[in-house]
Amino acid sequence: MGFETRLQAATAAIREAGIDALLITPGADLRYLVGYDAKPLERLTCLVVPANAEPIMVVPALEELAALASPVADLGLEIATWGETENPIALVADRLAGATSVALDDHMWAEKVLRFRAAMPTATQLPAGSILGSLRIRKDDDEIASLIAAGAAIDCVHERVSEMLRPGRTEREVGRDIHDAIIDAGHAHVDFVIVASGPNGASPHHDVSDRVIREGDAVVIDIGGTMPDGYCSDSTRTYAVGEPDPDFLRMYAILHEAQKAAVESVRPGMTCEEVDAVARDLMSDAGIGDLFIHRIGHGIGLQSHEEPYLVAGNSRELESGMAFSIEPGFYLEGRFGARIEDIVICTDDGVQAVNHRPHHLQIIG
Ligand code: ZN
Ligand code: ZN
Ligand code: ZN
Repeated sequence: MGFETRLQAATAAIREAGIDALLITPGADLRYLVGYDAKPLERLTCLVVPANAEPIMVVPALEELAALASPVADLGLEIATWGETENPIALVADRLAGATSVALDDHMWAEKVLRFRAAMPTATQLPAGSILGSLRIRKDDDEIASLIAAGAAIDCVHERVSEMLRPGRTEREVGRDIHDAIIDAGHAHVDFVIVASGPNGASPHHDVSDRVIREGDAVVIDIGGTMPDGYCSDSTRTYAVGEPDPDFLRMYAILHEAQKAAVESVRPGMTCEEVDAVARDLMSDAGIGDLFIHRIGHGIGLQSHEEPYLVAGNSRELESGMAFSIEPGFYLEGRFGARIEDIVICTDDGVQAVNHRPHHLQIIG
């Protein structure tokens, strides 16, 4: 789907919702709509999409060339530049004079939200997220190809982990090697590197630390980056350095089965919470359900966490084109943790995984 089509869909969506304009600042929504990967900075860059007029790209004069180097140039959008002593908020407010409702980028800085509020006192401010989220939640063929490429790139990094993990090295040392490998594999930047060894594995969002990896440790490695086209990777594998604790092995076997069952359950019409329950029920029946302390997954695309969220209470049905993680885990404080995470895509009649590294426990050394 081209950017033109996306802009038209966004315009149709705000018309339908009775909103006068969308205001989109740098971030995933801007990249989705016009392909411009602008930096979020103090100077205002803002795509203005009025319900009943042509969109306008408002950019600082010094960033005009950067905007024109992006797909914005081919879209034929009006580019409204502003100089260092001009007020870009007033420029936008003038164009939208009389607006009674504007939908703002979910990630717009509060400072800009408040200045827009002051400049357009009669306009109700709404979050644009739900409007754009409903477009972004189903990936088109190009986006699916991008996610598959991102998945292959992060798989390459996991493939190299066995060279990096050794007793005597710190999590930070291993993390630095992984960081470099993420870039070597074709990502434009690294989003996160979790190397959680031994008891640190019990903290799902551990980062890296100076803990020295020891013989017998289980090590949770959850890594992701953003590809040059903006699409994200995110994959977790759990490794063991030497022979792990028998309790760990028993629990890992349950987790392995639960993750596989949840992936295989994915198809259109299955709800988000049902997929979560597939793994959770299986783990509960085996006695470790209370150690699975987070939702099973999150959507992924131009952001590494986006809709849909696969969590109890979300009765939204899966649809073809939705892309999300399946990442159950178990976390036993003071001892160890494990997680297995793949990104999958819901297809017309089932599921396609983008990550293909082995799921069984990889014992190193
Ligand atoms: Zn997370
Ligand atoms: Zn994830
Ligand atoms: Zn992850």
